[in-house]
Amino acid sequence: MATRSTRSTKPSRPAPRTSGGRETGGGRATGKIVAAANGHAGSAKPAPKFKHAETGTLEGVWDYAPAPETVKVKIDAQYGHYIDGRFRPASKGGTFVTINPATEQPLAKLALGTAEDVDAAVASAQRALPAWSALPASERGKLLFRIARRIQERARELAVLETIDGGKPIKESRDVDIPLAAQHFFYHAGWADKLQYVFPGRTPRPVGVCGQIIPWNFPLLMAAWKLAPALACGNTCVLKPAETTSLTALRLAEIFDECGLPPGVVNIVTGAGETGAAIVNHPGINKIAFTGSTEVGKKIAMAVAATDKKLTLELGGKSANIVFDDASIDQAVEGIIEGIYFNQGHVCCAGSRLFVQEGIAAEVTRKLKVRLASLRVGDPLDKNTDVGAINSREQLSKIEGYLRIGQSEGATLCQAGRSPLPKTGYYCQPCFFTGVQPSHTIAREEIFGPVLAVMTFRTPEEALLRANNSPYGLAAGVWTDKGSKILEMARKLEAGVVWLNTYNKFDAASPFGGFKESGFGREGGVAGLRSYVEL
Ligand code: NDP
Repeated sequence: MATRSTRSTKPSRPAPRTSGGRETGGGRATGKIVAAANGHAGSAKPAPKFKHAETGTLEGVWDYAPAPETVKVKIDAQYGHYIDGRFRPASKGGTFVTINPATEQPLAKLALGTAEDVDAAVASAQRALPAWSALPASERGKLLFRIARRIQERARELAVLETIDGGKPIKESRDVDIPLAAQHFFYHAGWADKLQYVFPGRTPRPVGVCGQIIPWNFPLLMAAWKLAPALACGNTCVLKPAETTSLTALRLAEIFDECGLPPGVVNIVTGAGETGAAIVNHPGINKIAFTGSTEVGKKIAMAVAATDKKLTLELGGKSANIVFDDASIDQAVEGIIEGIYFNQGHVCCAGSRLFVQEGIAAEVTRKLKVRLASLRVGDPLDKNTDVGAINSREQLSKIEGYLRIGQSEGATLCQAGRSPLPKTGYYCQPCFFTGVQPSHTIAREEIFGPVLAVMTFRTPEEALLRANNSPYGLAAGVWTDKGSKILEMARKLEAGVVWLNTYNKFDAASPFGGFKESGFGREGGVAGLRSYVEL
């Protein structure tokens, strides 16, 4: 695992599977006529005009100018662990390389955390705990508030760094990840001195040292989800970011320094799965908070079972997005697109199983195809890119494996995109499958990519049965005009979050978490505070 980010110098992606005239990564519409057939703006040839088969609109006439992000972010050649308020190299000197998945170029060397490094981080968190937990709660709140403000002040830098390190479109880092990360610190700053009102009649006390292990899909946001409530409740932390996306967590450490967070209150150890396992197994840790795959979550649950550590697990999903025939179809299509192609589908609650009522299935898939064709896949740093790079070569191979399995099991693949994929970097054309049976692998397993399985149903009862027929239970979406149907479905769906006539909406005040193999415990809101206090 430690070498995952380093095996990356050769392009692994097969040749682009689609062809077309439009260049990827556009920007504002320029109004210039573009010769779509050869891709040269202002060509002497007349611009080809043709009617889109589905929409009847003129295609190939208008295109977008590139809109590259202009802010340059400084990235050091090498980063150490952040322990006891300062950066230090790995105890055994081990390093690994983090790369830009959009270009496959190395970005920086990071310290490879060993059991000794974890030991040092836990010792530092233990030392810091008495003073931090004894600090007047309003002072803790002030510090969290200051961190939130500093994240806002450095938002653009953080957004660019997140996109370079992880591959997500800059418009998502800029408009979703970073503002939400700041919001989590703001929200929890407010609770720090009001915990007695959250737990009336009780005396909330910190749990102690929290080991927090986060994934690569929302790196800074996941760090904020974990750290903000823990700190508000007076705990100290040892955080391990994912191997492929550690840079924004390390930048957050700089922000902690700037804001005057006492040394040792937050420690960040970079590394691989083994580093995470060392945190899980460390006897000095009082609580583990993990977000990641169900497979690793199960291992952690077993490791923690025989100890008195508290545990919360936010794991995988195969969430159902259900569209009834009385829904506003255009609105639902937007929700389907948002549900599965946001962040390249690297979203634990992605609406990856679409259930459409039979009578509107043909219309929905037709409209979906048209909308899919309009998504711009390419350079994540271009402000008009809708779908960026897949986070790693491993993840791309995994997704491509599922595309092959889906077809070999009899489903029909639709890749409507007409943007050619960039020649270097890890890219996947967003797509959906029709003709999917509930027993198909692509309908059961979490793909974690821009791949949607479309299925149909006839009655609300059948929709419920099919949606709940999954080992997962993280989220669901329901699209209907009828309020009573909405309430009935929300009550009966086995999912921690149910979005109604919308999808993928997040707020620090709203608890998030799963049922069944999607984990247990909640993050965000008042419910999220519970796992960071002893009562
Ligand atoms: P993992 O569950 O392996 O990784 C999540 C975090 O746990 C990372 O920081 C990882 O480190 C760490 N980790 C890995 N192994 C251990 C271990 N034994 N003990 C403690 N910590 C560990 O997810 P992957 O990154 O490998 O992704 C695999 C699949 O998981 C994806 O394809 C996707 O399906 C799913 N996934 C789901 C997520 C969700 O939010 N539900 C998030 C991420 C992935 P490192 O990164 O260094 O390996």
